[in-house]
Amino acid sequence: ATPTAPDADALDWSKGDGLLPAVVQDAATLRVLMLGYMDRAAYAETLRCGHVTFFSRSKHRLWTKGEQSGHTLQLVSMEADCDADTILVLAHPRGPTCHLQRPSCFPTAPAGVLAELDALIASRERERPEGSYTTRLFDGEIRRIAQKVGEEGVETALAGVVQGDAELLGESADLLYHLIVLLRARGLSLADVERVLTARGG
Ligand code: AMP
Ligand code: ZN
Ligand code: ZN
Ligand code: ZN
Repeated sequence: ATPTAPDADALDWSKGDGLLPAVVQDAATLRVLMLGYMDRAAYAETLRCGHVTFFSRSKHRLWTKGEQSGHTLQLVSMEADCDADTILVLAHPRGPTCHLQRPSCFPTAPAGVLAELDALIASRERERPEGSYTTRLFDGEIRRIAQKVGEEGVETALAGVVQGDAELLGESADLLYHLIVLLRARGLSLADVERVLTARGG
């Protein structure tokens, strides 16, 4: 999909000497990845090439994140805050965003655990690493995955009535994992389920 973003003229470049802070979030997990600064040229370049580009205050030039490391940020969308002097960027990171090889420049920046699992399962489906249980599920028939969802559903239901909290939590985790695998095997994701829930006004 084409990135969405406000027109550059809708932003208030009169603040901060024409340098607006840009918060970057992982579009899949919503983890905060880093903070950079954009001038008009960086904003335009980000839209032109689809890779998040800042004005580097140390290099004193435009800096496309990943220009050396290859760890780029693929633009999904940009949005201005209430008074148009701060930019929220959603992007898909290619590799670790921090130069310390961590996903985020904030060492413990939280991310949605289910969204992370969804992304991990998607990568298993693409890459099919050997020795992985998830790979075995994807290599087999979809009926088998559906059967596992059924079994874990029954186990979760039973645990809800006749077992302790630890068992209920464990079975719930099994169920969620297998459910995400089933969705992925059908080309769907947890995000698609979230859209249904959102549409219901939940
Ligand atoms: P890169 O843009 O990933 O090719 O990295 C180029 C240079 O920018 C590196 O040598 C780092 O010093 C710096 N750098 C990379 N990532 C970050 C970041 N997330 N925050 C601040 N500086 C960074
Ligand atoms: Zn503001
Ligand atoms: Zn960093
Ligand atoms: Zn189970």
